[in-house]
Amino acid sequence: MISSSPQNPADIVLSRADTTPDQVRTAADRAGLAQRGWARSGPAERARILSAAAEVVAAASDELTALTVREVGKPRAEAAAEVSRGVSILRYFAQQVYDPIGASHEAPGTALSYTTRRPRGVAGLITPWNFPIAIPLWKAAPALAFGNAVLLKPAEAATACALRLQELLAEVLPPQLLWVVPGGAQTGQAVLDCADVVSFTGSTAVGRQVVLAAAGRGVEVQAEMGGQNACIVLPDADTEACASMVAQAIAGYAGQKCTATKRVIVVGDGQDFRDALVAAMETLVLGDPAEATVAVGPVIDEGARRRVLDAAESAAAAGARILTGGAAVDHDGWFTLPTLVEGVPASHELQRDELFGPICTLSGAPDLTAAIEQANSVRQGLVAGIYTRDLGAALDAAATLDAGMIKVNAPTTGVDFHLPFGGVKESSFGRREQGKAAIDFFTTPRTVTLATL
Ligand code: NAD
Repeated sequence: MISSSPQNPADIVLSRADTTPDQVRTAADRAGLAQRGWARSGPAERARILSAAAEVVAAASDELTALTVREVGKPRAEAAAEVSRGVSILRYFAQQVYDPIGASHEAPGTALSYTTRRPRGVAGLITPWNFPIAIPLWKAAPALAFGNAVLLKPAEAATACALRLQELLAEVLPPQLLWVVPGGAQTGQAVLDCADVVSFTGSTAVGRQVVLAAAGRGVEVQAEMGGQNACIVLPDADTEACASMVAQAIAGYAGQKCTATKRVIVVGDGQDFRDALVAAMETLVLGDPAEATVAVGPVIDEGARRRVLDAAESAAAAGARILTGGAAVDHDGWFTLPTLVEGVPASHELQRDELFGPICTLSGAPDLTAAIEQANSVRQGLVAGIYTRDLGAALDAAATLDAGMIKVNAPTTGVDFHLPFGGVKESSFGRREQGKAAIDFFTTPRTVTLATL
């Protein structure tokens, strides 16, 4: 397994053997033993240790930011924000351990009926490469807070980040409670074979297999998968401000976020907005992600760049117009220009399937109803946005867009760790993650009836 830097593919960040299924099984057994003691430790102890974990990660912020930039090509400002979010997530879940975990109910006489929650055991976490610090932490922090052990299988392209995170957390966590098991699909399958609960984030194709495998073993599973996120722009929106936000949501981090805007639907004439969006996309600074001012770095690998360029070419062949971009950049690494394509047929892959890169379609709609219909016409439903000053239109959209998360006058990108996160349709399966939703997934309810003799 090799992880190389997308901006400088000759720079091998890490090269190592995959974790074998036997090694995964051994790790799961040891994690299971460590989990018993961890689950018995009180909330104050778990809060103390998770708070200490936050401080250890915070102290390593600069180093983790630099590693994220190097390994996955994330622009420095976004990488730093991601590490800082990871620290906040640890602090947040360190406090959630004090929340109530059940309720007491009416019972005859002096008897007592109450509900409580118990950890599930060893949590198998399978993560993608695009948020190499935040996603492992937004799964591991609640898993640990609520008394589970962790088996984390990071994406190959983000393995160095995950291993460094493990080293840092090992400074404060009880021994053998958290394991990182690097490897590819086979290692991931081995995790599915032995975890007591499975939390997956990644592509829809892999997510489906993960859900089936976990369900086949009768194990609780959540899967957060791809998006094909639309934003609707109404004529009353502030053209410049809106164009700048949309450009950033299309091409920031080279469009490699599950929440990136992939389809822009403009209601009415839209000529001014179209020009402003093209200008805003061309203004984004593209280059070495280590530079503080860069917004658009490379895509993750050569195959990803090829897919962006091929899609632009095939859309053009199908009659679409490339308004900006559509070409690679003469630069070391896997750079491609932010690309906006207009007039792409509804049946074309660019309109239907998530393409993980800085490319987006632009289309028109006569009114809000038609725009919402267009936005809802895909199989995915992660996030959708609307830009308008009309409160009624915003509320209509919030009520009728098929998406798990709705953004009004805000980019489709950007999530809050204290709010439930997830989509509908093919974008998500199972319970929500993050925020107060996490406890429902990482614990199981128990009902106790206590009578007196
Ligand atoms: P991916 O699906 O290729 O891989 C995700 C993880 O699954 C990796 O760790 C991979 O090694 C593992 N895996 C692959 N095959 C497996 C198998 N058969 N069994 C078990 N594990 C297996 O995704 P990726 O390329 O790493 O990430 C990009 C994708 O992630 C995009 O589709 C993006 O939309 C999605 N994503 C979704 C969210 C969200 O919250 N909805 C967030 C970030 C990324």
